[in-house]
Formats: sequence, C-alpha cells, structure tokens
Amino acid sequence: MRPSSGDDKKTKYDVAVKLAYDTAGIRLLRHEYEIYSKDLRALQGSVIPICYGLFTGMVNCAHTACLVLEYCANGHPNPAVAGEEFYRKLMLGICKIHQAGIVHNALHSYFHVMQHGEEPRIIDFSRARRHNCRGAYPADRYGDFQGSAEIPWCMELAKMEGVYGMKSGDPPDQHEWASLVPTLSQITQRLSNIAFYG
Ligand SMILES: [Zn+2]
Repeated sequence: MRPSSGDDKKTKYDVAVKLAYDTAGIRLLRHEYEIYSKDLRALQGSVIPICYGLFTGMVNCAHTACLVLEYCANGHPNPAVAGEEFYRKLMLGICKIHQAGIVHNALHSYFHVMQHGEEPRIIDFSRARRHNCRGAYPADRYGDFQGSAEIPWCMELAKMEGVYGMKSGDPPDQHEWASLVPTLSQITQRLSNIAFYG
C-alpha cells in the first residue's frame, strides 16, 4: 500500500498493513501492537519494522482493525544470496528482542524474517510473550550445543543459534568459548565480535 496525498511536496512512503475482521483477530492485533509500540519500541526501524499505529473502525457494519507497519522492500531473504553478515545481524536482532524481555514464539517460520535493504527485520509478534531470558550457549560449527544441561538456557535463542547463528560465520574454537557463562550479553558480544574470528 502506498499512501499518497497527491502533493509531491509531502512525503510518500510504502507501508504494510495487517487487517483483522473478527473479535479474536482484533485481540491478537492489539496484542501485537502493544509489543511493537511498548516492549520493542526502541528496536523499531532496526530489528523490527517501524510501527505507524493501530487503527480501528467499522467497515461494512463490521468491526475492523488495521496495523500499519514499515514495508520491508526486499521481502523474505533469499537463502542463496543472504550472506554471513545478514545472518549475524539477524541473530543479533533476535538477541536484542530477548534482551528487551520478549520471546517471539514463531521464529521457526521462515515467513517471519524479512529483508529491508541489507538489514533483517523480524515480524509478526502475535504469539509473542513477555519473557525473562536466561541466554543460551552459542552453537558450534555443526549447530550443536556443548553446554552444560545443568544450566537452563533460553530455548528460542538456542534453537535460533542452531538455525541462524551457525550461518553467521564460524564460531570461535571450542576451547575459546567453552568456558563462557551462557548469558545473553556474552552471546551478543560473541555475535558482535564474530567477524574477528571468521
Ligand atoms: Zn530468551
């Protein structure tokens, strides 16, 4: 959708809209708007799309809600083209979402990862919940975890390390990271530094 005033002096921009027409759908959209606008507000325009607002009204005598978001121009990333840097940023973005106290709960779906220019965007927070993140060990180069089972880790971060983290470049050698305490800040640091190990 491309809203336009018809006046060239005013800004034109592309947006994506998400519509709901029934009570359950509108409730989910309100929940998603709250995640975008409150919990993850600081990540808009970098990790997640900019959220322009939730609008409600009557359409053909039916309650309707419309969530308006930044349009991610490149659609879903092409796995054959997206490189290590893209996946490094994606994994870092997932860590930031958890650091903000949110678990997405549907990141296993490829359709929730978008690309805007060279940057990843994570979308669809309808199943997201507030979350006290325990962090996770980085995956090894085979996508496996060598960490202690005695320390509970964040399941979503651990799974995403196996899916996307291992695409972001070779991890440090085992002996270099085996002693890491599995905290989110350390994972974030590893992801920030990974280019130096690759
Ligand atoms: Zn977590």
